[in-house]
Amino acid sequence: MLSRKIIFLLAGLMEIVSAVQAQVPHLTGTVRINMAQGLISCDFTLSDLPRLGKDYQVLLNKGFNIKAIRDSAGLVLKYGGFYNGKMRGEGLCYTPQRGDSTYANPGTLRITYTGAFPVYTDTLNFIDFKGLIAFNGKTLRATDQSKWYPVIYDTRNDRLIEQVTYRIIVEGADAKMLFVNGDSPKAGPKAIFESKIPAAPLLFAGNYPIQQTPGAWFLNTKMTAAELSGFEKNIAEMKQFLSAKLNVPYHTKNVFIEHEPVERFQQGRVWGFVNFPVIAFAGTSLGRMVDTRTSALKDSSDYPFIAHEVAHYYFGNVLRPNATLFWFFLESTAEYLAVKTAEAKFGKAWADAHFQKQAKDLAGFKAIPLDQIRNQDEVSGTYRYNYGPLLLRGLEQIVGEKRMYRLLEQCLRADGQLTDYAFFKKRAAEAGITANEWLQFEKTFIRTSNATAAIR
Ligand SMILES: [Zn+2]
Repeated sequence: MLSRKIIFLLAGLMEIVSAVQAQVPHLTGTVRINMAQGLISCDFTLSDLPRLGKDYQVLLNKGFNIKAIRDSAGLVLKYGGFYNGKMRGEGLCYTPQRGDSTYANPGTLRITYTGAFPVYTDTLNFIDFKGLIAFNGKTLRATDQSKWYPVIYDTRNDRLIEQVTYRIIVEGADAKMLFVNGDSPKAGPKAIFESKIPAAPLLFAGNYPIQQTPGAWFLNTKMTAAELSGFEKNIAEMKQFLSAKLNVPYHTKNVFIEHEPVERFQQGRVWGFVNFPVIAFAGTSLGRMVDTRTSALKDSSDYPFIAHEVAHYYFGNVLRPNATLFWFFLESTAEYLAVKTAEAKFGKAWADAHFQKQAKDLAGFKAIPLDQIRNQDEVSGTYRYNYGPLLLRGLEQIVGEKRMYRLLEQCLRADGQLTDYAFFKKRAAEAGITANEWLQFEKTFIRTSNATAAIR
């Protein structure tokens, strides 16, 4: 027994050595919001910063002005980026300095800043998207993508470190309800939010009602009791299916937000985004999605759509992908599982028809073989959401459903490692997929620029 234990420990150690250094920063401090004027002021300290040497930047939404960046001793630091700054998405890039060059491995940084944003109660804005800090007179919406909190960018590995553990105070004198992703909604005007599990904080504050079921929170919704229980039934069914197939319990409550966009788009357009575990919709009413007589979703395509977001608990949260196959292990897996969840509900014929249609639609798609991806963005939107799930379906054709779920389970149990092609192959072997089967998979599906003809 003892010797077996030692071997096990050694094996564990090897895994740790080969694992990515995935240190999660910790965020503390205060954010003050003025809803009427669209003001946000933050005094934040980021600690436990990963040791990236000088290969990092601090990103902050372009609407903010920095008052000061200080080190752990409170010493004011100079920083680059205040003049002729470079942008990365929504954020301006700053590099704290010590002496004449970038401050290497700061460990802790305290950043104080203020920003003013338009309050749109009219039709003047032409665009709304996940990265916008949106005040509409009733609510403030700021996602991780907006970089309302300082986000560390790892320049060497081209990686945004959006997930943090946190304990922050949110103050909004004119906000009746406050919410930060990773914790539960709380009454304003002031509350403490905390998450010991890494999360990418989304801020949703303002004047809105909250509703709750055993499996989810609903912010800014006005659902009837029948609509709520119908919605809950669908989500519970999806979680039940996924946790049973993947052998990993589903611990998180999803948070559904109905938000009013700051862009006046035409009736009928629905827009959604995910900032896990938040699933946000604009342009629709969640309650109206449910047929209260049957508890079913009226539009059957809403079922895999929501299941995809629910599946991100596993692929995105339990496993946090990175490296070359970041998008494949984030989106293709979630989409494949969404289709499998819907298959359990609507039957084999439904899934067959779904994959057949996808294969037909992608007949002209040119894919870089998965084992030749060198840069994560080579897995394009179509690749990650449509073509990648077909590759997983192709593997399923060879090895069957059972080992597909084992493979996905092995992925979930290997968080912290580089999710590249070698990772995929290794997890497949652990799931009992033989070398011959893998070769067949590579030949038929991977090493071709289009495998759709092989989808049955
Ligand atoms: Zn997704």
